[in-house]
This record gives sequence, C-alpha cells and structure tokens, in this order.
Amino acid sequence: MSVAPSNPASAPPAPVIQKETTVGNYFISNYPPFSAWKTEDVPAFEDALKRAPKPDVPLGVYLHIPFCRKRCHFCYFRVYTDKDSAAIRGYIDAAIQELAIYAGMPFIGGRKPRFIYFGGGTPSYLSVDQLQHLTRSMRDLLPWDEAEEVTFEAEPGTLTDHKLKAIREMGVTRLSLGVENFDDHILEINGRAHQSREIERAYRYAREVGFPQINVDLIAGMVEETESNWRECVRKTIEMDPDSVTVYQMEVPYNTTIYRQMKAEGKLAAPVADWDTKRGWVRYAFSEFEKAGYTVSSAYTVVKSKERTRFVYRDRLWAGADLLGLGVASFGHIGGTHYQNEHDFDPYLKAVQAGRSPVHRALTPTADERLIREFILQLKTGGVKASYYQGKFGVDPRARFAAPLATLAQWGFARVDGDDIRLNRDGLLQVDRLLHEFFLPEHRNVRYA
Ligand code: SF4
Repeated sequence: MSVAPSNPASAPPAPVIQKETTVGNYFISNYPPFSAWKTEDVPAFEDALKRAPKPDVPLGVYLHIPFCRKRCHFCYFRVYTDKDSAAIRGYIDAAIQELAIYAGMPFIGGRKPRFIYFGGGTPSYLSVDQLQHLTRSMRDLLPWDEAEEVTFEAEPGTLTDHKLKAIREMGVTRLSLGVENFDDHILEINGRAHQSREIERAYRYAREVGFPQINVDLIAGMVEETESNWRECVRKTIEMDPDSVTVYQMEVPYNTTIYRQMKAEGKLAAPVADWDTKRGWVRYAFSEFEKAGYTVSSAYTVVKSKERTRFVYRDRLWAGADLLGLGVASFGHIGGTHYQNEHDFDPYLKAVQAGRSPVHRALTPTADERLIREFILQLKTGGVKASYYQGKFGVDPRARFAAPLATLAQWGFARVDGDDIRLNRDGLLQVDRLLHEFFLPEHRNVRYA
C-alpha cells in the first residue's frame, strides 16, 4: 500500500519552479551549510582528534590538488593556474606533512583508510615524479592496503600513456575523467583546457592500462550548449561505454568568471540553459543510458552494473564515515565534527610548515542535524529506508520529516510506501532544491558556500 504522509495544515503552496539560472550554488554536498561553520568551533575539531573512533566508523582520505592548466569559466573551486614546479613541490610536501601531523593521533585508532580520493583542481596535472613521491609518502604514513577504492580525477588533456600507467600503479581503482562536453567550441568558450580529440585518446589509454572503473563526467547546459549538442554528447558517451557516468546540471556560483561577467553587464540570468531545459536534458540522458543497460544510482550518476560498479567514497560519506580532508580548502569530518582547512595557499602552507593543523572553521552538528544530513544526502539516491534511520538514530524519519515529506508528496515528487521513502524521476532531477525543505529554519535561504 502506498500512502502520502498526512498533509499538515501549514503545508506551503506548490513550488515556484525556478526557471532561469541565476547566481548561486544549487548542489548540496553537506549539512549544515558551510556558512554555519565557524573559526570559534575549531577547538571541537582538535578535541575530536584526541578521541578514539567509534567502533565500525570507516575512515577515508581526501586530498585536494588545487592546480589546473586553465580556470574554467564556471569553476568556483580553490584552484591555481600560475604555480611553478617548485610551488607545486612545496604544496605536495605540505600535504604530506599535514598527513604526518594526523597519522599518529588517537582518532585514527589503528584504522587503515577504506577509501582514498584525489580531487581538485586537477590531480592529473601533477607529473609522474610528483605523483609517485606524494603517494609513496602517504602510504608510508597511512597504508592503503585495505582501501576498497582509490579515486583519481583527471583532465583528459593532461594524460599520457606513461602517466596513466603510473596512476594505475599507484593503486588507483577508479579513474574519473572530466569530459564535460565533446564539442571543441563549447569546451573552448567555457574555458576548458582540453579538446575533444584528447578525450578519445585518454579514454583508450585508460582502458588499455586496465583501471577497474572509469567514470565520465558530463555537464548539462554549458554556455552555448544546444539540445542537439547534448544529444550528441550522450550518444558519444554511450559509445565509449564507461563503467559509470556522472551528469551535473550547470550552475553559476559566486566567484566564477561567468558571474563576474554577469555582474559587469548588470545581468541577473546566466547565459546558460534554464533549469527546466537542463532537467529535460538530464532526463533524456538518463533514459538513453537506461536503454543502453545502465541503472540510475543517484540524481547525478548512472552505472553499467549496479553490483560491480560501486562508488565507495560517495556511499561511505553519505552514511557518516570519517573523512580526513587534506590540502588547501579541503573539507573533512572527524568523530562527529565537520571542518574545513584554510582556503588560501599561503596561510595553509604556513600553518602546516609550523607543525599546526591548518583547519580554519568547524562545526559539530547536533544529533538532529546529523540525522538531517544523512537523510538528505541519501535521498539523492532516489530512495531510503525508514528502518535504517530508526536503527541508527532511534528516530523514525517518517515522523521527524512528516511536514517536508507531505510537502514533497503534495508537489508530486515523493511518496512513502511502508518502510520506503522514495522520490520519483521528476523529484530526483531537482533533488537539490527540494532538500531545503528538510533544513532547520535557521539554515534556509542561506548562501550555501
Ligand atoms: S578543471 Fe575543474 S577544478 Fe580546474 S578550473 Fe576546471 S572546473 Fe575548476
């Protein structure tokens, strides 16, 4: 039997469908919002380092490599395009030193990382020598021999067969290729550094080298994208036959080149497709991937084989794993406390070189906030089980979230069916904007970054 949660008297009216792409972050990657994390709360992080971990909480490591060949016009990450090899070497040594600060602390509790993630920026921007020095030193401090997954983000134009071989030999199991689009004009006008011919070459080498899993990233709705271009991107991706595909809907956060241009021209709407169009394009992509045998595993991801193709980093993180975030501006979560490192190069290096942790803001969520976090992040898979939250948090989410679930049901996006809480495809395609319904009042309408 399928039932919608009871509709509270205060249920808000049907949603205003946001049409134009205006400035701001759409994608929700954590909760509470980063703007609630404070420097005053850093001592809570320092206390968490001194406590032994709770039993059965897995540990992961994320390292941010903040270098890129060019800055994409939609990018809001902390990246540098002007660092020479001495500065890069200094950064790598600082990241190793940062890991050394943490490696002997009680929160590790004898754990070996279950997942490792090299993100960016562009990890593949590093030379083979730099990568080997980095990974050997990291392994000496915290062995990875029990890692279920090692992910490495790569920009196609930085990959040679020699480098791909070295990346595989480092133990990388999941190579994530930032393809984004296959059209040279669209890549160029959006500031991407690579060209379409480099995609095919890098993918072929990567297959030859034998990575267990190759993911392809696409972005729906880049500047000047058309429907026929998008369809061609989907067709080419299916032809490549990757193990998984991640599809983002183009957003235009603050601190991007596109936003600065909008501001200079006094424009409120970004020069990219509106949200209805982008949702339509992702809907089309998902249905084409399904016809080709893929399964939708989250609002952004399709996988060729649900049994074989896992994404350990995402699944563990969304289930509350500890994450040791290393590098400039990195986010982490240790023993119940969220934290973020210094977000500029020099303060980050200075802190680490002085033997101090470079954490600059932190937040310890309440039990209710942890429940909200885990509920909203896992809802991005399209469905959750009430019994999971009852067992883990002692709270029935059907009761705790009765009002927002009723709202989503009234809008036609969600339903509760016994133990199952599910979003339909329409709900999944706009999940990030719907998740705000589950936020505490003080976290609504905040700037997310
Ligand atoms: S490659 Fe990625 S991290 Fe680098 S500028 Fe482009 S979007 Fe940003």
